[in-house]
Amino acid sequence: MAFQLPELPYDFKALEPHIDARTMEIHHDKHHQAYVNNLNKAIEATDAGDMDIEDLCRQIGKYPMGVRNNGGGHYNHSLFWSIMQPGGSEPGGVLLDAINSAFGSVGSFKEKFAAAGAGRFGSGWAWLIRNEAGKLEVCSTPNQDNPLMDIAEVKGMPVIGLDVWEHAYYLNYQNRRPDYIKAWWNVVNWDEAAKRFAT
Ligand code: MN
Repeated sequence: MAFQLPELPYDFKALEPHIDARTMEIHHDKHHQAYVNNLNKAIEATDAGDMDIEDLCRQIGKYPMGVRNNGGGHYNHSLFWSIMQPGGSEPGGVLLDAINSAFGSVGSFKEKFAAAGAGRFGSGWAWLIRNEAGKLEVCSTPNQDNPLMDIAEVKGMPVIGLDVWEHAYYLNYQNRRPDYIKAWWNVVNWDEAAKRFAT
């Protein structure tokens, strides 16, 4: 079974003014679609065709670079669309308690996460993960790697992830990646993040 591009759960323009409609359209319809197409090509000569994308990420070290880059691209973008929503929300419940316990406050967590995103040289992602000890941790990965991957420096279950590739923000923010990261908090879907933390 081939991997499929998931539909966006909202309109292209729904995250404005924080993320503009044109960026969302190109990002979803062109970039994510290309990762899906290239992943389907890259797995043709492998045994990965029937795997789900999370399991594939967990064993990515066994596969060629094309599977790693495009499989990561597919997983990361699918997660990214799902942990955003028009109007955003605030963290609550067990996840809020865990953030306070790990980082001291939501504000300190956001500073640490923003620094991970702004400090990632070149292209990559910033993550809030539940690590193997069950604790929250902030990390970042290069390119389309993610913390589920067996090759990741810091491993865990992604709770939220932020795309800091230029294609995610350049039309609206140009070189101002920190402004994009600051604006992004206004569209985070913390209910979805809480579900991910609980799994
Ligand atoms: Mn992207």
